[in-house]
Amino acid sequence: MDQATKKTVKTFCYQCVAGPDLMEIEVENGTATRVEALYGIQDAHPGGGRVCVKAYGLIQKTYNPHRIKAPMKRTNPIKSKDQDPGFVEISWDEALEIISEKLKNIIATGLTDSSGYPRVAASFGGGGTPTQYMGTFPAFLSAIGNVDLGFGAGQGVKCYHSEHLYGELWHRAFIVAPDTPRVNYILSCGHNGDASTGVAGIWRHADARDRGMKRVQVEPHLSVTGAVSAEWIPIKPKTDAAFLYGVLNRIICERDWREVCDIPFLTEDTNAPYLIAPNGYYLRDPKTKKPMILDLADNKAKPFDADITDPAMEGSFKLSGLEIGADDQTWDHQTAEVKPAFQLLIEHIKPYTPEWAAKECDVPADQIRTVGDEFLGQACIGDTIEIDGETLPYRPVAVLLGKTVNNGWGGYNCCWARTLLLCLVGALEVPGGMMGTNVKLNRPGHNRFASAVKGPDGFMDYPFNETSKEKWNSDPHIRNAYRTLVPLAADSAWSAALGPAHLPWLFQKKPPENWPVPTKPDIWFCYRTNPAISSWDAPEVAKRVAEFPFIVAFAYTHDETNHFADILLPEATDLESLQLIQVGGTKYVEQFWTQQG
Ligand code: SF4
Repeated sequence: MDQATKKTVKTFCYQCVAGPDLMEIEVENGTATRVEALYGIQDAHPGGGRVCVKAYGLIQKTYNPHRIKAPMKRTNPIKSKDQDPGFVEISWDEALEIISEKLKNIIATGLTDSSGYPRVAASFGGGGTPTQYMGTFPAFLSAIGNVDLGFGAGQGVKCYHSEHLYGELWHRAFIVAPDTPRVNYILSCGHNGDASTGVAGIWRHADARDRGMKRVQVEPHLSVTGAVSAEWIPIKPKTDAAFLYGVLNRIICERDWREVCDIPFLTEDTNAPYLIAPNGYYLRDPKTKKPMILDLADNKAKPFDADITDPAMEGSFKLSGLEIGADDQTWDHQTAEVKPAFQLLIEHIKPYTPEWAAKECDVPADQIRTVGDEFLGQACIGDTIEIDGETLPYRPVAVLLGKTVNNGWGGYNCCWARTLLLCLVGALEVPGGMMGTNVKLNRPGHNRFASAVKGPDGFMDYPFNETSKEKWNSDPHIRNAYRTLVPLAADSAWSAALGPAHLPWLFQKKPPENWPVPTKPDIWFCYRTNPAISSWDAPEVAKRVAEFPFIVAFAYTHDETNHFADILLPEATDLESLQLIQVGGTKYVEQFWTQQG
């Protein structure tokens, strides 16, 4: 081989959300022949300059003979699984001409149809990786203005859906991760991180294990993560919520919570001492309308932000005050039986004994107790750590949830139980504990702390979608109706994807009573995603896709969804992309760089 035709090119792999990771490609006569890790940046890169095995597959991916390499148009007007679409190659000019003619007609007719829905729709692949490759496409969509981004591409099937919504509320973060360099004990329910957190995550966990961090892996089968954990606890599939409730019962009901929990954290940073009135809402001060706490020092109920010496955490009391419910329904209690929220928590958790949990999840009761005791033993309640001259609480325990654990049945309960475990020992958003990584639903997107402001009741404020009678969005503005149906989805650029993204597909066939007529978008852009294979009910979604009148699909190969497309536009792989991608800072899961740029 003539050495002059051989060169190396530095580039990135961003094939999954655990990236981007940097690499070097050997190119011979214009053909990529070899992928190498970029060890030259090992001191800066959180994964020691490595790429994972998927990056090495980029050469096969690039030279896959089945790739779509040029724009194509459909010649068979019948869209069906059994029909050959008859794609023929066309020039870029012709492809763009066809698309722009369609769009011009739509804009001339009006961007909103008779049901109040956008005539233009677009769906993207999961995890945010596709958006990194979009280049000017978001600007193009935003220039159109009214675009329905709510047709799901399998959200909930393939992402950590419950955790995202829950995390934004509790951590102000879409994804949470342990403070791996400092954590000493991780309870991992089905989180297969050694297969899925990329080179950076695997490297960080290996380092942590090397210095003695104990990871307990709870999962039905022995994954690679379980195999390198200190302990594997086999469990019946989809019963993790029962297991976690058993651990909670051990801590709250069997141990003396007054001795083993982080009481200052519970009283100052949670609603544990807030008084709950008979209808389940806070007991409020009639003057300020603020939730109240009973101060045992003088036996007086006071607004939560008053000087309170000894907040009541348990018991039942007869007190007066206001209770304000949904739609401002108000009860003026002269003497009502009220309880601190923590008392209600004790009562709620009481039935879920380790014995009860053992029957549900097949983990022996004593093993559940041991996990609870170990978690408490490692939490270092009361300890502090100095970081950059600041003294902060130090709670080196964390709880990880795998994808199927925090999705579907029991997913919400697992997220709740995990967050509660962290609250009990004060390991939420402190060194050593569970931390948020980045933010998606709240804005600004570049700084998750900027929106973490105190609301009127003393908790982190949240831009819920309106539920009041006057302001509720009764007319869905897009087909998944997230503003109408999901208060927690908020209303930012990511909210459509985090809303009920399966509903537009379902409602195409059978909408609820009094629902707007389920129109199809006049044009649907399908970008780096294949919902006809990745949705809950993929065959049904494929049928609905086939009914769409005009589809533009960005295509790597011919697939189950773009089979129904009218225009195919070829996709580039990482080895061909000229996309500028930001590296550094904090990415998803465990991608924490100290540098940024
Ligand atoms: S972990 Fe890094 S190298 Fe591996 S596929 Fe993801 S981005 Fe690429």
